[in-house]
Amino acid sequence: METLGHIPVILDHEEIKTRLHMERRGNWSQVQSLINSAQTLIEAKAAYRVCYIEERLADTIRIDGVYLKSKVLRKNLDHVERVFPFVLTIGGALEEEARACNDILQQYYLDSIGNEGLAMVRSYLEEHLRSRYALTTLSSMSPGSLEDWAIENQGPLFSILGDVPGAIGVNLEKSHVMTPFKSISGIYFPTEIPFYSCQLCKRGNCPSRKAEYSEHLAREYGIMQ
Ligand code: SF4
Repeated sequence: METLGHIPVILDHEEIKTRLHMERRGNWSQVQSLINSAQTLIEAKAAYRVCYIEERLADTIRIDGVYLKSKVLRKNLDHVERVFPFVLTIGGALEEEARACNDILQQYYLDSIGNEGLAMVRSYLEEHLRSRYALTTLSSMSPGSLEDWAIENQGPLFSILGDVPGAIGVNLEKSHVMTPFKSISGIYFPTEIPFYSCQLCKRGNCPSRKAEYSEHLAREYGIMQ
């Protein structure tokens, strides 16, 4: 397993200001001071492996002897041989700070700032994979992001990676959630056309939506109810 420690994350104040709609409401100087304190609490790390598809079944793939069941993942990996299972995190200190805070609005701000940090770690890992493995377009899927690839697949994913807690301090709980909560797991794979799970997700009003839902694509992937 490859690990990336001390990933540089410099929080972008203007980006956070826009995301929180601070130009229209709220106390921006308070948020700025929360950003400054969050900056000192982020400890960004990532772990990943380079793996090869060993077997393709109807709606399942096998990597390193581990079966992962998902029609969507299976179709996305139709013409792919090399994949990159990963886990990344900003560590637990920021969410501890948010938990210790009595003010719900401040908790919300800290949570949103944490999400920004997490997105930056994600971009860092993507860029690392692109440049190290000479890839152009990368897409990813995460267990639990779609019904088709259930959260229970966290266990098999972690078993492909190995000692994730020892490498970057991310634990998989019995409920299949990761701690620290501000962590992301999944599989990166090269694609010609970018794929987003959001294209197959009907959830309305999702602030993290990256692409429109496509009924046509849902039919193509065979997951249309
Ligand atoms: S729309 Fe939201 S909930 Fe659905 S996959 Fe995208 S980010 Fe996740």
